[in-house]
Amino acid sequence: MGLENKTAIVTGGGRGIGRAICLKLASMGANIVTCYAHGEKAAEETVSLCREYGVTAVAVKADVASKEDVEALFAEAEKITGTIEILVNNAGITRDNIILRMSDEEFDQVIDTNLRGAFYCLRAASKRMMRKRYGRIVNISSIVGVNGNAGQVNYAASKAGLIGMTKSMAKELGSRNITCNAVAPGFITTDMTDALPDNVKEQIAKSISLNKLGTPEDVANAAAFLVSDDAQYITGQVLGVDGGMS
Ligand code: NDP
Repeated sequence: MGLENKTAIVTGGGRGIGRAICLKLASMGANIVTCYAHGEKAAEETVSLCREYGVTAVAVKADVASKEDVEALFAEAEKITGTIEILVNNAGITRDNIILRMSDEEFDQVIDTNLRGAFYCLRAASKRMMRKRYGRIVNISSIVGVNGNAGQVNYAASKAGLIGMTKSMAKELGSRNITCNAVAPGFITTDMTDALPDNVKEQIAKSISLNKLGTPEDVANAAAFLVSDDAQYITGQVLGVDGGMS
């Protein structure tokens, strides 16, 4: 299936988009290492579903905003095959508020998880991938990082920052055969968007060219393409998975 004997770290794989990415990469033969901040049971469910594809899969408790946790996560992943070929920075949170009411904590929590967490993982991965002269990295950004969104100054800044990191990493690591791309999902049905009232979701669906919200699998398919050999000449790109919203 194309990813046999490769190890993929997918952060935040317990549910939503992260789980769909773990399952998709496992179905393509990759060993999976995922992490969770709070949801141990959900992450364990994900890895047991991955194992049904005959791959090795483990879930590690690691808060991506903690440098020590991220180092421990990568060390655990290396124990599986000795190498890490794929990184998907998926873990993310929202703490929405209008700027006038946004607290320092709301700003910091989102930046620390979505941006600093990705930075720690990118640094840990690049060290290992450069040694191997091979790597495939996908950062899960957002359409909000491209277009902005009222009430999401913190989230938009983190997701736009991820795009900047993606393009810089592509330039820095391309000569070592490491690609780095971003996926920018639109509205995808997960716990993150379930909090929205039904009438708001209907309004959103009307604003999307394809007239519906996306699924976690839609995003997973894009991430899987970007880590596959079919995408070996694609780097520094932002692939929108948004039903035509943008
Ligand atoms: P969910 O809220 O459903 O899941 C988020 C996942 O991230 C959970 O598994 C959670 O684990 C994990 N996570 C959160 N904080 C941390 C942390 N500090 N350390 C480790 N893991 C953490 O989100 P989605 O599946 O909807 O979103 C996944 C990614 O896609 C996010 O980056 C999000 O910003 C992005 N995205 C989502 C869109 C959508 O419409 N849903 C649109 C555009 C982008 P735990 O349960 O243990 O906390």
